[in-house]
Amino acid sequence: MFTSINPYNQRKLKTYRVDSAAQLERKLARADHAFTDWSALPLSDRTQHLRNAGDYMLAHKQDLGDLITAEMGKTLKEAVSEVEKCAVACTFYADKAETFLADQVIESDAQRSLVSYQPLGPVLAIMPWNFPFWQAMRFAIPGLIAGNVGLLKHAGNVMGCAQAIETIFRESGLPDGVFQNLLIETDTVKDVLTDWRVKAVTLTGSEKAGASVAQIAGSQIKKSVLELGGSDALIVLADADLDKAAETAVKSRMQNAGQSCIAAKRFIVEKSVKKAFMERVLHHIEAIKQGDPTDDSTTMGPMARLDLAESILKQAHDTIAKGAKLLTDTIDADGCNVRPMLLDNVKPGMAAFDDETFGPLAVIITAKDETDAIRLANQSRYGLGSALWTQDIDKANRLARQIQAGSVFVNGLMRSDARVPFGGIKMSGFGRELSELGMKEFVNAKTIWIE
Ligand code: NAP
Repeated sequence: MFTSINPYNQRKLKTYRVDSAAQLERKLARADHAFTDWSALPLSDRTQHLRNAGDYMLAHKQDLGDLITAEMGKTLKEAVSEVEKCAVACTFYADKAETFLADQVIESDAQRSLVSYQPLGPVLAIMPWNFPFWQAMRFAIPGLIAGNVGLLKHAGNVMGCAQAIETIFRESGLPDGVFQNLLIETDTVKDVLTDWRVKAVTLTGSEKAGASVAQIAGSQIKKSVLELGGSDALIVLADADLDKAAETAVKSRMQNAGQSCIAAKRFIVEKSVKKAFMERVLHHIEAIKQGDPTDDSTTMGPMARLDLAESILKQAHDTIAKGAKLLTDTIDADGCNVRPMLLDNVKPGMAAFDDETFGPLAVIITAKDETDAIRLANQSRYGLGSALWTQDIDKANRLARQIQAGSVFVNGLMRSDARVPFGGIKMSGFGRELSELGMKEFVNAKTIWIE
């Protein structure tokens, strides 16, 4: 059984029965069968189905938002905007698919030579709970439009969301088997991924899960995309607009109760402006209103599970034990409701510097100058989405290229956007989601050469 528990009050919401071996086999057979017809449909038919899915989500955004909030605790406002973001992605890919997937004619000595982008087949999508709709949809929307079919293995604590995503596609008219939710535990992932009918895998989650899944995929010579953790830097240089930088830094770190892969997990600040920046950050953290995530005035809900809350508190304690200084009142939690924290004097060798912190813990690291700031930013095993604050755009252009990350956002909130590629380097994974690159991760770029 999978059990959904409301993290705000620990009430049990619902249980979901794990698929039996026979049910799983039927789903795999259905996916294989569905691929033949779905991939043969004209592109315009597939895009219409996905436009319908976007419309369905907008029409039901309040109910879907309620479900997200109940299962993983983000504020209802954040949950509804997550659903809206998925709908925007449906329109984006429906509008762009024809261009992205068009044959690419290549000049050669053939009569005609070109690259044709063709779908691979059923793709397994292993997804986390932190953005339970967006993470699944940002694979599914381009993947399905490209002609693949989807098999979702969602996190065990958001099975209601997983079922709802399957319902969205069914209600939007997608044929039977084009998108199915698998109610399976992690032990069963290997059986699915080694099944001949499954052609590729995408995983968004932790390093540990990524390494395990990539190993299985590698042993089967199957394509994998990994979107893993991060410990991204938000660099504040001496000439930055400190008001905007501090406000955005706190938003980046604390949204979704700090549970975002691309949250600004290390604020790296030039020494000369550290005090002024820190005061502003503290002010914004103190203004956070915790409480019932369904209440409109709440700005931070609970973390998604008790074990995650315990883990962030332990990382804060461990970091302080190594010499960091607590600037907020306390390290404390009421169940999953963790008090937002700010630590100063954080350095390499401390948990909050070396490891990913997945909760409302902001940390300040002092840099001697811009060269030192870049060095500290790159002193991480991760490289996902960094931010850089400076009013000198020439300098920003130069330094952004030196930061080891999949994305660098200058003077703005690091975020995922369907128009631009998203993904990491180093232990943050490989491959890209979103944009044209994301759509082309799960296609066969087939060369056709006609003499
Ligand atoms: P997680 O434990 O790795 O879980 C993610 C998904 O992988 C869940 O569906 C989980 O299933 C499954 N899973 C776990 N171990 C597995 C294994 N050995 N084999 C196959 N599947 C496995 O991650 P999490 O801690 O819940 O999520 C937070 C992590 O995700 C953070 O590190 C965060 O940075 C990362 N993340 C990355 C991105 C990105 O785009 N780069 C986006 C969001 C989150 P169960 O729930 O059943 O264990």
